Amino acid sequence: MKQNLGVDGDRLWRSLMELAEIGATEKGGVCRLALTDLDRQARDLFVRWCREAGCTVAVDPVGNIFARRPGRNDDLPPVIAGSHLDSQPTGGKFDGAYGVMAALEVIRTLNDQSIATEAPVEIVAWTNEEGSRFSPAMVGSGVYAGVFTLDEALQKKDIDGKSMGDELRRIGYAGREELSRRAVGAYFEAHIEQGPILEAEKKTIGVVTGAQGQRWYEITVTGQEAHAGPTPMPRRRDALVGAARMIEAAHQIGLHHAPDACATVGFMQVSPNSRNTIPGRVFFTVDFRHPDDERLSEMDHDLKDAFQWIARKAKLDLDIREFWYFPPTPFDDACVAAVRDTATRLGYAHRDIVSGAGHDAVYMARVAPTAMIFVPCKDGISHNEIEDARPDDITAGANVLLHAVLDRAKPI
Ligand SMILES: [Zn+2]
Repeated sequence: MKQNLGVDGDRLWRSLMELAEIGATEKGGVCRLALTDLDRQARDLFVRWCREAGCTVAVDPVGNIFARRPGRNDDLPPVIAGSHLDSQPTGGKFDGAYGVMAALEVIRTLNDQSIATEAPVEIVAWTNEEGSRFSPAMVGSGVYAGVFTLDEALQKKDIDGKSMGDELRRIGYAGREELSRRAVGAYFEAHIEQGPILEAEKKTIGVVTGAQGQRWYEITVTGQEAHAGPTPMPRRRDALVGAARMIEAAHQIGLHHAPDACATVGFMQVSPNSRNTIPGRVFFTVDFRHPDDERLSEMDHDLKDAFQWIARKAKLDLDIREFWYFPPTPFDDACVAAVRDTATRLGYAHRDIVSGAGHDAVYMARVAPTAMIFVPCKDGISHNEIEDARPDDITAGANVLLHAVLDRAKPI
């Protein structure tokens, strides 16, 4: 394969900007919630562009769109690349849209260069990745990978009680093609990093080796409410003081397992929340993340040890509820190597990186050899209207995607 084969960066940028006009916000972002009229417009435009690029388009029952460029041996499992077209209510132009447009640009480039492949190449746009209109996130890829059943997905309701099934029918994307049971040759997803590491280290490409594991807890600390004046300090059972020590302990656990650990307490309720009453009950959450399951388990032990010790010393009752456990997802070694080797060959500064956020690729990794390509975003900010990325980086990520796809689909 030609070493200097590359995508048309200007065309990719123009397509991204044209797509970003659908649901454009005043601050330069995008509001395109899943299965709204705006989502339909974005889907229609994407489908039109795919057909213009000679692809055949199929839609599955949860509204995932697959655009296919046939292979010489069309019975081979397809190599799929894509991401999502829905956004957060105050989202940006790149999150999701980039992965879909980069995959489209790959196919446009193959057409321009008259490159045929052994295996078919497909672009996918997954339904409801963001999870902001219909919870949880990554529903389309989750159904495809067998994490959710189709029925439970279609019954998910938005805040107004409208179901995903009804909304899919309303916008004309309740498809009939049952695609989830076929073999997939490989899945690649290009995405903005949504964090600050690549930009800070002046790297163009993040070779994503997998996604972090997560453990979420709900903690209830119970002491005794009492009057703030007449109750001497030694007699107090102050639930908030205990909770404060626990939050500091959780933070220290995160620091102790640096640099890869994350520990966050982001939600707290104090009862009775009155300035002259000693708090009798505190509820808070803990979100632990680590790419290595063993270390994540150590963090789990550390949390239980520390919290129990603090509760005992302060004569508090403690309830630790393990709310959610999502094991680390390592991506496929060969697909990751294809991304890394390509970045090296094309001369892009790169580093291995673990995804801190969830992506459709995390579910796809359960049913297909999978890898992701990250590009830097400005100040590491996303899920925000000011989300931004540099055209050169956007082009570089698409070039890596092009070569990684070709590595698996085998140019003829
Ligand atoms: Zn995304």
